[in-house]
Amino acid sequence: MFYPTFESKNNHVVHIVKDQNNCLCELKHNSFYELNRKDLRNIVFRPVKDVTCESCLDKLDEIKDLL
Ligand SMILES: [Zn+2]
Repeated sequence: MFYPTFESKNNHVVHIVKDQNNCLCELKHNSFYELNRKDLRNIVFRPVKDVTCESCLDKLDEIKDLL
């Protein structure tokens, strides 16, 4: 299963993207505040094993049954 992911530039944590402004872990919302069109190209589909954000993974675990 592949998910759209975003790698944060400051700490290189890989998050799962929920929409253009948020990743799955709502706590990271602010880190996407400066996301621009260029950054959107950095969103790539990766297997879930590449995701390193624990919060995103926890959230995915909660909602994957609904997807
Ligand atoms: Zn995250």
